[in-house]
Amino acid sequence: MNKVLILGAGQLARMMELAGTPLNLDVKALDVLSNKVVQPLAPEYICGDLETGIKNADVITAEFEHVAHNILAKCERSGKLYPTSNAIKIGGDRRLEKALLESCNAANAKHYFVNDKVDFDKAIEHLSLPIIFKTALEGYDGKGQWRLKSAADAEAVWQDMADFLTASKTTVKQGIVAEQMVPFDREVSLVGVRRVNGDVAVYPLTENHHTDGILSVSLAAPVNAQLQKQAGTVFKALSDKLNYVGVMAIEFFQVGNQLLVNEIAPRVHNSGHWTQQGADTCQFENHLRAICDLPLGSTALIRPTAMVNIIGEDTVPDAVLAIPSATIHWYNKVKRAGRKMGHINVSGNNELQLAERLQRLADILCKQAFPDLSGFAKSYIEKQS
Ligand code: AMP
Repeated sequence: MNKVLILGAGQLARMMELAGTPLNLDVKALDVLSNKVVQPLAPEYICGDLETGIKNADVITAEFEHVAHNILAKCERSGKLYPTSNAIKIGGDRRLEKALLESCNAANAKHYFVNDKVDFDKAIEHLSLPIIFKTALEGYDGKGQWRLKSAADAEAVWQDMADFLTASKTTVKQGIVAEQMVPFDREVSLVGVRRVNGDVAVYPLTENHHTDGILSVSLAAPVNAQLQKQAGTVFKALSDKLNYVGVMAIEFFQVGNQLLVNEIAPRVHNSGHWTQQGADTCQFENHLRAICDLPLGSTALIRPTAMVNIIGEDTVPDAVLAIPSATIHWYNKVKRAGRKMGHINVSGNNELQLAERLQRLADILCKQAFPDLSGFAKSYIEKQS
């Protein structure tokens, strides 16, 4: 099994090719916009279409959860798709996701499904303000969300949501999931991997920080054993239930000592990019190992590591590379505001050293493009002393 086809040809496919090449894996990707199979690292090199791509592959996987259902069905019929189309679809529909969480008794925010005004009023009755409303389909990076803080705004929020639902052109019926706002202490995620035989390995919980709804920094450092165990138990329950194969990420809200699942991503995940420099085996390689039915690699943290997303910028000063254990990963994308263009991984032999290197990084990078990095580094240094 050495020919892999990835549905989606973005940065995640690119990093899977980078990780798979030393294992002699031949990684190709379907560009879903052109319907052409390409080489992820050289997308101008076209290798065929979906039909030949499916035929030539030994295994097929996905780098995003919003793959058209007819494509998933074709891939599933070939018997080569990992994880299953069911698991991929759950990641792309918050209603299915909530149903999965409930079936596994995985703690999550109190919620209510909304399709019309009657449901909307019931949601407000059932939950208490503030409430966050999220589109069931096609929501990502905080898009497709409404926050209702005061009853006086209910009519305006409903109007906006009703217009959105009317205009929605999704093939599966769009809907809204109303969720109780959780007063969380922090957001963390768990990236884990499951092999065909049920073997599971999880990385340490990662602390995530967002800027304007987009992940800006992920921090992987030694974690509280009780929280790690809690997260690992949820991963095992969800991945067993789905008979999952590959890497899956679970995003959580931490409230005191409790973790509530926010959402799941049936794929390699931005909050796992630190594993390229901070773990024994990176998430991209472990995903490929799992879907090719190879032994999983160790997920141990080898040193505290942070990942800083480069958003909307296509250059950073060369001085970044002079910081010890700082590594830049560009995605070869055309610059666009708000677009994830690359990331920087920074490691330290201990957390204080990592925090000081992050401060040095913040001092070098443009403040407008990385508005929260300096504050993050400063408070991280303070926490260490
Ligand atoms: P999501 O797209 O569901 O990950 O939501 C984007 C961001 O909105 C999350 O990273 C949180 O910061 C915030 N958020 C989402 N759901 C909730 C919730 N139920 N309570 C509080 N904050 C939330």
